[in-house]
Amino acid sequence: MTDTLKDRLIRLIESGGPMPISSFMQYALHDATHGYYATRPGIGRDFITAPETSQIFGELIGLWCVHEWTALGKPGALSLAELGPGRAALMSDALRFAYVAGGPEFADVLTLTLIEASPKLRAAQADKLKPYAPKFMDALTDIPAGHTLILANEYLDCLPARQFRKTGDDWHECVVGLDADQNLTFGLAGDRHGSPIDATPTDTVVEVQPALDLLVAELSLRAADGDKFHALLIDYGPSDKAPGDTLRAYKDGLQIGPLDQPGDSDLTVDVDFSRLKRLAEAAGLTVSGPIPQGMFLLGMGAQARLSQLVKANPDHGEDIFNAAQRLIDPKDMGERFKVICLSSPGLPVPAGF
Ligand code: SAH
Repeated sequence: MTDTLKDRLIRLIESGGPMPISSFMQYALHDATHGYYATRPGIGRDFITAPETSQIFGELIGLWCVHEWTALGKPGALSLAELGPGRAALMSDALRFAYVAGGPEFADVLTLTLIEASPKLRAAQADKLKPYAPKFMDALTDIPAGHTLILANEYLDCLPARQFRKTGDDWHECVVGLDADQNLTFGLAGDRHGSPIDATPTDTVVEVQPALDLLVAELSLRAADGDKFHALLIDYGPSDKAPGDTLRAYKDGLQIGPLDQPGDSDLTVDVDFSRLKRLAEAAGLTVSGPIPQGMFLLGMGAQARLSQLVKANPDHGEDIFNAAQRLIDPKDMGERFKVICLSSPGLPVPAGF
C-alpha cells in the first residue's frame, strides 16, 4: 500500500501530538515526497492566477520595473527578484515587455533571481526563463546587495498561518489532531494564550502569518544596509482583514476541505494587508497601497495595452478583452486582489499608486 501524506500526518500526530495549522500547511505544501508544490503543483489545473489569465498582467509589471529603474536614476546594476514564480508566466511576460520598453540598456544591467521552494517549479522556471539566465536562491537574504526590485504574485497567501480561537476567557491555538476514528480533525491546543481581560467575543478566530514578520524584517535589514528597493506584492485579501478562519483548499478548480486531501490540494489564506502595512511602517519602510489590483493595472495603462493587443489580434479580440477584464473588473479579480509596495525610505512613490 502506498503511503499518503495523510497517513504520514496521522502517524506524526499519533507520536508527537496535534500540530499547529502552520505546520500542517508546511507539510501539505512543501513536504519533499508528498507536498503539493514539491510534487504536483497544479497552477492552471487547481487554481488559475492573474499572469496565467492574461499577458497584460506581466507586461504592465515589466513596464513598472522599467519605470522604477528609471526613477532610481538608471543604476548600472539592478537585481530583479521574484518570490514564488510558479510557471514563470509573470516573469516571462514582464521581461519580454521590459526589454522593449527599457531597451538594451535595461537588459545589460539586469540580474534575475528566483526564490522558489519547489524543485519541479524551479525546473519549469529555468526552462521558460533560460534566455535571462536566472539564478535560484532559497531566501530573500540571498539576493545580492544593491538596487533591487522584488515581485511576488499569489505568494503571500500560501505562507503558513497560525490560528487562535477565543473560548470563554482564553485564547487557544487551533491545531490539527485526530478524531476517535483516527482521522485528521481540527481542534484546540490546551495551552492558553493572551490576556483574559480582552473584550473579543468568544469563538473569534484570528489568523497570523509569521512569515509576514520575517519578510518585513528581511526588507528592513536591507534598508538598514542602504539598499534601495521596492517590493511589489500582489495577493488576495481585504484591505482590513476581519477576524475569521480563511484557510481554504482547492483541487481541480473546486474548493474542498483543507484536511481532505493534504498534498493533493492547494492551501491558502487571505493575506492581512493592514497588518503587513503596520509591520512595514513600524520597521521604517515606506508603504504604498494596498490598492485594488484593477486600479493598479488601469493606472499602469491596461486600457491602452489592451487596445493594442485587440487591434493586433482581431480574431481573438473578444477573448483577449475578456481575460484582461477578469483581472480589472471589481466584480471579478479587480477588487478582491490587492497591490502593496514596500520600499526603502526616501524613494519617489512607485508607478501605479
Ligand atoms: N506567482 C505565480 C505562482 C503562484 S503559486 C503565479 O502568479 O502564477 C505560489 C508559488 O509560490 C509557487 O511557485 C510555490 O512553489 C511558491 N512558494 C510557496 N511557498 C514558498 C516558499 N516558502 N518559498 C519559496 N517559494 C514558495
